[in-house]
Amino acid sequence: MVPLDGIRRVQFGHFTIPDDGDQRAGEKVMVCGYLIDHPDGLVLLDTGIAEGHDEVDELYHPVRRPLDEALDTAGVTTGDIRIVVNCHLHLDHCGGNPRFPDTPIFAQQVEFDAAHREEDYPIVGLYDFPEARYELHGGEADVATGIRVVPTPGHTPGHQSLFLRLPQTGPVLLSGDLYHHTKELNRPAAFVNHASNSLTTRTRAAIEAFVRAEQAQLWIQHDAAHGATLKKAPDYYE
Ligand SMILES: [Zn+2]
Repeated sequence: MVPLDGIRRVQFGHFTIPDDGDQRAGEKVMVCGYLIDHPDGLVLLDTGIAEGHDEVDELYHPVRRPLDEALDTAGVTTGDIRIVVNCHLHLDHCGGNPRFPDTPIFAQQVEFDAAHREEDYPIVGLYDFPEARYELHGGEADVATGIRVVPTPGHTPGHQSLFLRLPQTGPVLLSGDLYHHTKELNRPAAFVNHASNSLTTRTRAAIEAFVRAEQAQLWIQHDAAHGATLKKAPDYYE
């Protein structure tokens, strides 16, 4: 694998879990993405919280940090991004996708299909905007040399994680919504918002074995407590 230059965590805001039967009702959920410096150009994992859906806003009370402002903390603009990856297509992960016309956006084919079929994906304009260039695949795929998407289904049908090796930090798995909390590690899934808890549980077991074998760090995107222990942009992991 080609050594990467580094990775920065950018913060996109937060939302609040609604009282719809989830034991975590009222909890604030941090939303972030990752900027990866690659010799071929900047890669962005996830693009923030979507706007424009009153029902969702009423339910989740999102507090958004605008995409330009979030990227500016790392000193970059949308025009600097060469490749976008979405761990899945829920609207707290791909809200800024329409800001990336003619830019390859990596997602799993089954996720893209689900986004056009299921009610968990209420803003079709995030997927079908003019000049959208989704790169759809079925399984593992190299986004760029040394950056690989690994399917981790369960939260959604086509959820995926990103695996990379940093020169100093070593291997890192960016696990998207496979977990929402560090305390979910090595446990079966029990969260009303997973499309399939049993599939999430099976995926977790496989990923935990993979992470052990690779001696990789596992970074959990929505976990504010875990996130507080990680550097945020402009600070880097090399
Ligand atoms: Zn999420």
